[in-house]
Amino acid sequence: MKKTTKTTSFSTEPLGLDAIAIKQSLANRLTFSVGKDPRTATDRDWFNALSYTVRDRLIERWMETMRSYYQEDSKRVYYFSLEFLIGRVLINSLNNVGFYDECVKSLEEFGLDIEDLRELEPDAALGNGGLGRLAACFLDSMASIGIPGYGCGIRYEYGMFHQRIEDGRQVEHPDNWLRYGNSWEFPRPEVLFPVSFYGHVVDYKDSKGNTLHHWEDAEEVMAMAYDTPVPGYRNGTVNNMRLWSAKASRDFNLKYFNEGNYIKAVEDKNDSENLSKVLYPDDSTEMGRELRLKQQYFFVSASLQDIIFRFHKHHNSFDTLPDKVAIQLNDTHPSIAVPELMRLLLDTYHLGWNKAWSITQRTFSYTNHTLMPEALETWPLSMFGTILPRHLQIIYEINHRFLKDVMHQHPGDCDLLRRMSIIDETGEKKVRMAHLAFVGSHKVNGVARIHTELMKTTIFVDFHRFFPDRIINMTNGVTPRLWLQQANPLLSKVINSHIGDKWVTDLTQLKKLIPLADNAKCRKQFREVKHANKVRLASLIKQHMDIEVNPHSLFDVQIKRIHEYKRQLLNILHIITRYNRIRHNPDSDMVPRTIIFGGKAAPGYALAKLIIKLINDVADIINNDPAVRGLLKVVFIPNYDVSTALDIIPAADLSEQISTAGTEASGTSNMKLALNGALTIGTMDGANVEICEEVGKDNIFIFGLNTEEVAERYNQGYQPWDYYHGNHELKAVLDMISNGFFSPEEPSRFRPIMDNLTTHGDHYLLLADYDAYISCQQNVDVLYRDTDEWSRKTIINIANMGKFSSDRTIQQYASEIWGIKTAGPQKG
Ligand SMILES: *Cc1c(COP(=O)(O)O)cnc(C)c1O
Repeated sequence: MKKTTKTTSFSTEPLGLDAIAIKQSLANRLTFSVGKDPRTATDRDWFNALSYTVRDRLIERWMETMRSYYQEDSKRVYYFSLEFLIGRVLINSLNNVGFYDECVKSLEEFGLDIEDLRELEPDAALGNGGLGRLAACFLDSMASIGIPGYGCGIRYEYGMFHQRIEDGRQVEHPDNWLRYGNSWEFPRPEVLFPVSFYGHVVDYKDSKGNTLHHWEDAEEVMAMAYDTPVPGYRNGTVNNMRLWSAKASRDFNLKYFNEGNYIKAVEDKNDSENLSKVLYPDDSTEMGRELRLKQQYFFVSASLQDIIFRFHKHHNSFDTLPDKVAIQLNDTHPSIAVPELMRLLLDTYHLGWNKAWSITQRTFSYTNHTLMPEALETWPLSMFGTILPRHLQIIYEINHRFLKDVMHQHPGDCDLLRRMSIIDETGEKKVRMAHLAFVGSHKVNGVARIHTELMKTTIFVDFHRFFPDRIINMTNGVTPRLWLQQANPLLSKVINSHIGDKWVTDLTQLKKLIPLADNAKCRKQFREVKHANKVRLASLIKQHMDIEVNPHSLFDVQIKRIHEYKRQLLNILHIITRYNRIRHNPDSDMVPRTIIFGGKAAPGYALAKLIIKLINDVADIINNDPAVRGLLKVVFIPNYDVSTALDIIPAADLSEQISTAGTEASGTSNMKLALNGALTIGTMDGANVEICEEVGKDNIFIFGLNTEEVAERYNQGYQPWDYYHGNHELKAVLDMISNGFFSPEEPSRFRPIMDNLTTHGDHYLLLADYDAYISCQQNVDVLYRDTDEWSRKTIINIANMGKFSSDRTIQQYASEIWGIKTAGPQKG
């Protein structure tokens, strides 16, 4: 018997947001959900009671939001991403729903401090760095603007590894973030889709003589959904992030059970559930591992089945799919979605090729995040064909038709066909995922203006000629709710006192701060906020690392993944230069600096790990040398993640954005830091170019080679040894590194770094930029001494960061790619 529920007779009391209602909810949740007596409850029990209390208040709005999307048959956006770097969500939820103060009050009545409870929440670190954090900022912006946006990804059991520093070296520890459960998510055991791997394709003819393709003897894994509510900022919208977890398929085990091999059946269960076990910790390099390809297909297949079946229930033709569904591919990681949608339309729903292809292209769009060859995804054809045999067939067909078009337009140009082919046939044959994503999308975007322009002239030069309207720019942004309002309550308060709080949903409002830059009283206010944030960070550093730092010193911050192209080494060259100048000029009165690093190295990236060791060895020598006289301190803060970023960024004076021009697609920590009143020292790379344009070149420290000059060096045969011999200070610094000055117990420890910067060609041009960087750093010192001028530029920077809200970015995606009308920024 099927039960019917009359929704009209089903009603709940709306949950109150006042302190009395919250207090009652806390008590109820502690008792009935956590199962604890208030007399024996631990802080973690209270954290869980609190998060349930908050979640309860999200649920009503969530259901209301989903109901309204359904009733209006709104066009939905699915953001496909292998990574979502969310961080902690308690304060964000309280803040976005708008009952933070009431919660604090209610907790106080139980003798609890929200600051203690918030620390108990683990970071949801389901991402590596910038790409995953961008996805998280986009979810916040879509909800805050009221766009029907869904995050689609994997519920990794282990997120980004936890970094510990032992004897100055990175040691990776597993991130068991679900150990105490996750009170924000809803498991959906009934939302379950099969995902197939391996097997082979059988062709046969139907009664009308059409060839049909059957993917047979495949192994099946089940994908189970977990939903996490994503609240918008005080607008009643709560969107959904749906992450997939792998579960063994019953059928798959059955054959062993039937053979009486119970143990083998359970072992196999483990194998298939390993699919969603762990996030690959490699940022900007491709490892080409089989499990990674399976992860990609796993979440893409589950998400597409979910989307298609939902669409199909309410629409009788797929012709309108692109009017109701937009799918954004965050990098090429989910680009297997292109042949997967084709497969569903062709093999399951029996559409013709042309119709299926038109629907597919109009549904997808692709965001490119890197131009660096080592980061461009390719899969060996043999591996690909073994795991996904039907998809390889479809890719061949896509490629065949595509290259035929190219050939018609450029007859006889065989080299062009070779370059543009989705299959790389030079050496071991490979599938080029960027070409697949490009061909299968109606729009392809870069993430900062310079990056987009370089896409057109480098990796996609042939594609741009063939599809001149396809590549567009969407400069990245960050959410002001997290990166200013929550990160920096003191600064927010000062800003609010002058211009109100409309900036929270319309960051261009910050422009109203410009006149304050010329007001001495205001400059003092901003300075005092920065100082208080520095005192706070200094006390965290003392507490966790037992290092004393002087909050009156200039806080010089470089926080990002450790990577050669980001040039943490250039920063070290400056530090050692500074150290030598202090030692050799005993009466110099340099500006005291604290140089702060944070960042993880990919576990297999030996040179990046050696850079971490060098930073810590240099810190050890400098921090313990009395000759330094308090003028220099170096701190490597372990385990850089969203939570540590929130502690560091408000305290930064100087933001290091020093990648080799042309290598950093956009960067987003540059935006977060400038928004919090740090001045940028940087190259003309990524979004630095646009930050410079917004704040004005007098309010930023730009140095070094630009992209054209970088290209010239490469073309003209760059000679790092010339720079080594041509600059005695640089030579001294490099000699110290390579001769064991910082590693007396193992003098050759850093030889690989020396070799990298000299004999092996210094691919990222550190030596070529050294001089310009050092003299630019001198300009920083000069300005920092002029306290008023520094504060003035700080305010000008904050005031001109409006462009870099992810709300602006999402508005642009909505109108230029997704075809979704929005009300525009929430003004006044
Ligand atoms: C913003 C952010 C990044 C990106 O930093 P970039 O300097 O732009 O590479 C990486 N990790 C975390 C935790 C972040 O918050």
